[in-house]
Amino acid sequence: MTEPLPYGRQWLDRSDVDAVVDCLGDPYLTQGPRIAEFEAALCGATGAKHAVSVSNGTAALHLAVLAARLSPGEIGITSPITFVATANAVRYAGGRVAFADVDPATGLIDPESVARVAAQAMREGLRVAQILPVDFAGQPADVPAVRAVADRIGARVIADSAHALGAEFEAGGATHSVGSCRFAHAATLSFHPVKHITTAEGGAILTSDDELHQRLVDLRNHGIVRDHARLRRPADDPMRGGWWYEQHDLGFNYRLPDVLCALGLSQLSRLAQFVDRRRALADAYDRGIAERDLEPHLAPLARIPGRKSSWHLYVVRVGAGENATDAEVARARKSLYDHLREAGVLCQVHYIPVHWQPEHAGTIVPEGGCPGAERYYAGCLSLPMFPAMQDSDVDRVLDAVSGWADARR
Ligand SMILES: *Cc1c(COP(=O)(O)O)cnc(C)c1O
Repeated sequence: MTEPLPYGRQWLDRSDVDAVVDCLGDPYLTQGPRIAEFEAALCGATGAKHAVSVSNGTAALHLAVLAARLSPGEIGITSPITFVATANAVRYAGGRVAFADVDPATGLIDPESVARVAAQAMREGLRVAQILPVDFAGQPADVPAVRAVADRIGARVIADSAHALGAEFEAGGATHSVGSCRFAHAATLSFHPVKHITTAEGGAILTSDDELHQRLVDLRNHGIVRDHARLRRPADDPMRGGWWYEQHDLGFNYRLPDVLCALGLSQLSRLAQFVDRRRALADAYDRGIAERDLEPHLAPLARIPGRKSSWHLYVVRVGAGENATDAEVARARKSLYDHLREAGVLCQVHYIPVHWQPEHAGTIVPEGGCPGAERYYAGCLSLPMFPAMQDSDVDRVLDAVSGWADARR
């Protein structure tokens, strides 16, 4: 009996284990030197000026939204094709969520829909404070276009780049790394085991804005300030001494411990290898789908020229013929999902549209709803994609898909 294939999984080796074990013998398990080392390495990998490590990707989104000053009642616009955490971050800060529609061919947020839903919210007298595009599946969103919309309305851009560490895009005649924050005010990462690198749980915010960076650092540690230059009590006050600190903000304990930064540093040294392997697997899937004539039954997500995905997910869209309704497509997708599970291929669905979630009922959607997101959702299925996968695993998955397709021909 062959092992079931998960849709994603970490790849740890001996050097990762050694890095963690070494750290366990050090004086610092947390709040030590490895935090700054890991953050410097993240800046090196992305081109951002600052990186702030935090306890998970959701905490990264929460702090980014707060640090960029979304006030209660203000709007954060995001994509319905994302993990619920993106929308939740706006709600944690007391904000209201508005969803923009996506392009069903890519699952990426449509900047024109962002502009339309922003105008709609503003007509209702609401202030749009932030826009949170998602680099879905590893393919960069059109963040430059989103930034142009944001600049027109005085909003800030926080990219949820949890899927796209290692990805690149072209804009203005240059190539930019995801997370460089050339167009976004901040970008967030997750180091959950299914993501490109892992610290078990972990995340980071990237930014090139000095003020935003300072707020992130403060908010990660209870809002406490120790930096002498920023303390409010006079330096000659006898009540103030070397122990003195002041709480200037309502912050949190969202620190990532040194032990996990040690793991992150070790993992990050192999990022290029992980991403190369993911790209090779994506190409193998594309080739295999074409060679097996699977195309009418399922098709890979569209690749946009000038955007180099780092392939967090390998998503296919199930088809059910030219004029099929969403319900017909959904029935075909469900039968493929069940067939693959039966064959030990643990595929997944990314994502159930967030505006369908009962907790997010009553959020603002564009007039006419999000038909692109709903169309995309009906047929999407994520096939196994992780760097430790073998080429033979791709064949195993596609053989199982062929079995399903043959039964439908
Ligand atoms: C994984 C993920 C998150 C949340 O990250 P955690 O580390 O699990 O909290 C947020 N957004 C997206 C798009 C993700 O894939």
